[in-house]
Amino acid sequence: MAYSYLTHLECSNCGKTHMAEMLQTVCRDCGKVLLARYDLKAIGRAVNPEMVARRPATLWRYHELLPVQSPEAVVSLGEGMTPLLPLPTLGAALGCPRLLVKDESLNPTGSFKARGMAVAVSRAKELGATVLAIPSAGNAAAAMAAYAARGGLQAKVAMPRDTPPAMIAECVAYGADVTLVDGLIDDCGKLIRERSAAEGWFDISTLKEPYRAEGKKTMGLELAEQLGWRVPDVIIYPTGGGTGIVGMWKAFDELEAMGLIGSKRPRMIVVQAANCAPLVRAFELGERHAAKWENATTVAPGMRVPVAIADYLILDAVRASGGTARTVSDEAMIEAVKLLAAIEGLLVSPEAGATVAMAQAMVADGTLDPDEEVVLFATGSGLKHPDIMAEVGRQA
Ligand SMILES: *Cc1c(COP(=O)(O)O)cnc(C)c1O
Repeated sequence: MAYSYLTHLECSNCGKTHMAEMLQTVCRDCGKVLLARYDLKAIGRAVNPEMVARRPATLWRYHELLPVQSPEAVVSLGEGMTPLLPLPTLGAALGCPRLLVKDESLNPTGSFKARGMAVAVSRAKELGATVLAIPSAGNAAAAMAAYAARGGLQAKVAMPRDTPPAMIAECVAYGADVTLVDGLIDDCGKLIRERSAAEGWFDISTLKEPYRAEGKKTMGLELAEQLGWRVPDVIIYPTGGGTGIVGMWKAFDELEAMGLIGSKRPRMIVVQAANCAPLVRAFELGERHAAKWENATTVAPGMRVPVAIADYLILDAVRASGGTARTVSDEAMIEAVKLLAAIEGLLVSPEAGATVAMAQAMVADGTLDPDEEVVLFATGSGLKHPDIMAEVGRQA
């Protein structure tokens, strides 16, 4: 039995197939996002839920549906299989009693970026990469640096100069070569693209590299497994590059093709920050591509992403699911962080606060039905935000 049933990569735009056995980024023909494809029928025959249930509690329990070919190549810090917790007190307060949170802050490096990086770094190492490079708003660089350290690879990161200091410090601590840029993640991306081409580094930018989405796909696999092989009614997701939306949407299709879930899909709700909302604007305009958001600012670094290469995949998924895309203010995020800590004991990042604020807004205007089962994605830990913590602490 194979460890992975990866067969090839397929362009999400032009449909061209590419061999998976080499390091590559976007489609060589059209420059768009490549998606990993598997022999789902064979996995369906080889694996059943009981087998998966007996495996260790990391995302590697789904290894047949991941791209790494050999167990020896896996670079792991124990990522995945995070708790799916009910939020009874918050749910009652909001008027949304079937409210749950997937607590991603418990991943290595304190954010769900660990999922994508565990898989992408393992696969890059397997395919012979030695130097990995990334533009990042904060958490992705920290996760990449940690997995590179674990796997014995070099890490080159470019981040905005005003990234939360804890995330810059993490990269330095993990031994990465850090460049601070006067600009946003897209400016960092330009720098990494140029340096990678010149120096032969492997650019592991999300959705330019095909396997970070596979790592984040495991959020959808876990959710289905933790609910007894079914999906919730609604998923509220703090969206930057949208890797999680693309990944989970793909996960549900794969699970259906394997006969593990039916055709029902959750409504996928994209939350963005009021001052960085390219996807929300495109959604409202009925467009499939999102123009760059100028002068993006928000306290939530994971959502400070002015352009998303997979805009069309995110917007397609939101629309096909009957979901929506909306913004919340930074103030509402921070209030929600405090509320979740005070009444449920979870200290999350502002991105996660955004999902709470969004649930609140959707119940208030009737977009969420009180009977619906709603899953919030708490994508990062509040402890990585000493600035916000300091403000909260001053209330002592
Ligand atoms: C990166 C990040 C996000 C956005 O995730 P995408 O899947 O890239 O949209 C949300 N929250 C946190 C804490 C992040 O680090």
